[in-house]
Amino acid sequence: MDPTGINHYLEAASRSKDWHDAYLKKMKKCRFDTIAVHGVYSMQEALDFNQGSIIEPIYMSSSQAYRDSDEMEAALSYQIPTWCYSRIGNPSMYYLEGVLALLETYGTDLEASCCATSSGMSAIHSACEPFLTVNKEKPDAKMNFVATCQIYGGTFQQFAIRKDEEKNIEWRKVINSCDLEEWESQIDENTRFLYGELPSNPSQAFFDIEAVAKIAHKHGIPLIIDNTVGSPALLRPLQWGADIVIQSVTKTLSSSGFSIAGAVIAKKDITCKECEPLMKEDFGLYLKTLPNRDNGPNISPMNAVMILNDIRTLRSKMDLMSRSTLKIAKFLKEHKHVEQVDYLGLEEHPLHELAKKYLVLVDSEYDEQYGERVNRFGHLMSFRVKGGAQSTRNVFDGLQRIWRATDLGRIKSVATIPAISTHQQQGEEGRDLADIPPNLIRLCVGAEHPDDIIDDLSQALEVLDGKEIDQSAPEYSRGGASSSTLRRNTLIEMIM
Ligand SMILES: *Cc1c(COP(=O)(O)O)cnc(C)c1O
Repeated sequence: MDPTGINHYLEAASRSKDWHDAYLKKMKKCRFDTIAVHGVYSMQEALDFNQGSIIEPIYMSSSQAYRDSDEMEAALSYQIPTWCYSRIGNPSMYYLEGVLALLETYGTDLEASCCATSSGMSAIHSACEPFLTVNKEKPDAKMNFVATCQIYGGTFQQFAIRKDEEKNIEWRKVINSCDLEEWESQIDENTRFLYGELPSNPSQAFFDIEAVAKIAHKHGIPLIIDNTVGSPALLRPLQWGADIVIQSVTKTLSSSGFSIAGAVIAKKDITCKECEPLMKEDFGLYLKTLPNRDNGPNISPMNAVMILNDIRTLRSKMDLMSRSTLKIAKFLKEHKHVEQVDYLGLEEHPLHELAKKYLVLVDSEYDEQYGERVNRFGHLMSFRVKGGAQSTRNVFDGLQRIWRATDLGRIKSVATIPAISTHQQQGEEGRDLADIPPNLIRLCVGAEHPDDIIDDLSQALEVLDGKEIDQSAPEYSRGGASSSTLRRNTLIEMIM
């Protein structure tokens, strides 16, 4: 061992940092699909440390061991790269964080860092909370944040109950997010950040990110954007001036549906007039090594690696699902039992032109098939059934291919009635603000052939013709059978 003690490790760390930085630079020059497939896991790392494993290993270990007290001291004072303890970091978590930071900054010179969390909700909590600390010079000032109303139901509850009601941190609601004056008029010196989700779940609200980022920066505060629905394959808010991006990694990013996960991706040097230096310079690293170390909401290594496998094909999946969704939206629009279809991809949608500026299939200009910039509008749409809440439930209950589930971004098509599911808890008033009537069905189109999804919708909508639905069709029993009977019956059938 080198007698110079800790310096031995500092020098080695500096060499490895140079190598790693050079590797990231090289990756940054690759196209989106190549980054999605390889991320930050290099051949060198595989061959030198992981027995040549071509897939990122899952490090199922609570902690990292050190060679001696010098290495331990250098590591725990964050002077050398380390992961230390899986509540804070873990190599498998880093593979996910590294690839997300690269994808969310794709096509720009921006640098970002990422902190992966156990769920989308914990990502939102992790991203917002550090800004909501008491200002020691003005301890009595009531803090506020400005956020759109058309947001995911869970976010609505986190903002309305956990922050506004329980902690007296005012949520100033933006009702029409396209109205820039409305955003600006809500801001005062106690506003800590602006927050928006787009395209919003389920109502497809959309706003001009670039313009809202300018308003935030004029007031010295960050803009946080929930980019779950579009994913970096269609939209990269950091490129348009947003400071921090939220992903419910559970959704679009992990289409196979193995796990719940989230991520906070922040560009370096966010706008924040009241932040301490590290928080401003590298918000992702700050979260990971300080608040999230102490609060403990980060992701597990198992989930992180499961998700990597889904991310590799993100771009082509988003292309396919978007094209299918447009076809299905056009079918529904013409249907006699459908009152309204909301999909940003439809030309008559009032926000279609604005959405075209932002929602673009990444690298479409380098795609042999397209050779030019092509708009894609994602897999999420909604439609309103004529005849009110009961008719809507009847149609919904008639679906035989599309799963009834409160989920989105799946490789399998899923539908829900938000008023009785994802957006139930916020009550009628909250639903009115978010524009979620009881006859709205949210449909998230998967990777099946779109004609089969159209057939399913078509037969389900036939209930409204007054025809009897074919009760013999579903192989599951409806109404009456308890889940345990169901499971047992299936088992008995299988044995016989
Ligand atoms: C589902 C969802 C969330 C919450 O994510 P979880 O992983 O379920 O915690 C946040 N934002 C949007 C837009 C979502 O769809």
